[in-house]
Amino acid sequence: MLSPALSAMMSDVRSSSRVPTWEEQFISHERRVKAALHNVANDACQFRNNPNADPTLAEKFWRLAERLYPGYEGIEPKVDLPLIYQRVPIACNVSCDGCFTGANFPWKHTETHVTFEDLVDTARQAADLGCEVTKINGEGEPGLYKQLADYVEAVKKFGIKEVIICTNLYRDTQHMRGALQAGARIYGKHWTLSPELMHSMTDRNYDYVRQGHLGPAPSVLYALFQDFPNQVGIQVAFRDINMQDAFRIRQMLGPVLPVYMEPYIGFPIVPDACGFATNSCAKEPIYTAWSASISSHGIVGRGGFSEEGISLREGGGLHAVMEQSFVIDEGLFSSRYVRPENGCHCMIRALKESQEGQAETSLVDLNLRKD
Ligand code: SF4
Repeated sequence: MLSPALSAMMSDVRSSSRVPTWEEQFISHERRVKAALHNVANDACQFRNNPNADPTLAEKFWRLAERLYPGYEGIEPKVDLPLIYQRVPIACNVSCDGCFTGANFPWKHTETHVTFEDLVDTARQAADLGCEVTKINGEGEPGLYKQLADYVEAVKKFGIKEVIICTNLYRDTQHMRGALQAGARIYGKHWTLSPELMHSMTDRNYDYVRQGHLGPAPSVLYALFQDFPNQVGIQVAFRDINMQDAFRIRQMLGPVLPVYMEPYIGFPIVPDACGFATNSCAKEPIYTAWSASISSHGIVGRGGFSEEGISLREGGGLHAVMEQSFVIDEGLFSSRYVRPENGCHCMIRALKESQEGQAETSLVDLNLRKD
């Protein structure tokens, strides 16, 4: 249960004008729904015609698809990916508790990691499938990836309009600045107004600016915001110990720059807060229906940080994997057709249960947000 003080704070934040995340600005709700319907129509086509389609999954599909994605019948079947998530193979320079990125310490490069050429080629393939935005996470910290600016320059030539990079804001790196100069946008990790708490959650001593127009914040946020004011946003992950700070950050900085709030993966969190905080989940089609998450080993995963899925190398490339795998691989199928409780994909790991088949599971009626 939320404390009365936090409930009141959330209520205030709810009633304040909502700041869309960059993803929402660049890929509208309508575009997401349209892409999801294209992909679901493609799955229907595959279930009808592909001899490799799993009959058990087919039975589930015909039961769930219309409820989750009403209107998909009659839509052109095709793979449609307005956004892909890509993870660059790189170590991290901080050590957050509950890190789910696979940046296990000490991190080692392996021969199964994607190359720079692989990353760019995957973005090229995605552009052919309608991709407008790529979002870069690291297996560790993308700001340490030497070819970050080269990546941004290369993918923009394919017609990809936006590259969004998630960084931990621990160090101001030339690679990050090069990427910003090449037109990328960043979401920086800003979890708490307390340097000590940030330190305890990340096991590193962040430099903080304690007085200033952004309030107490990592000094790298100030430095980047000063030089690239229209390209910098914040990612606030919250759990019990930083929840009040997280909502204060949202209240304080939401009117100034994009703020993306999400439950801290790996920790149970209050469901109400989850539904409110993650802008892109509650009333949206499940994100695996309109985007793809590709790991630093070139695997199209079942969720944001899943290494389980289908390898692009073995699956014949992005189009082939996205066209066929959701009717063959049970995990991928579930990631598209089983909405986790509260409608938030971030909660999959925390809740460990699904509500497959429950009557209220649908594309639009979760009703968790009131904006
Ligand atoms: S900054 Fe990201 S990759 Fe690094 S430890 Fe924290 S959560 Fe993991």
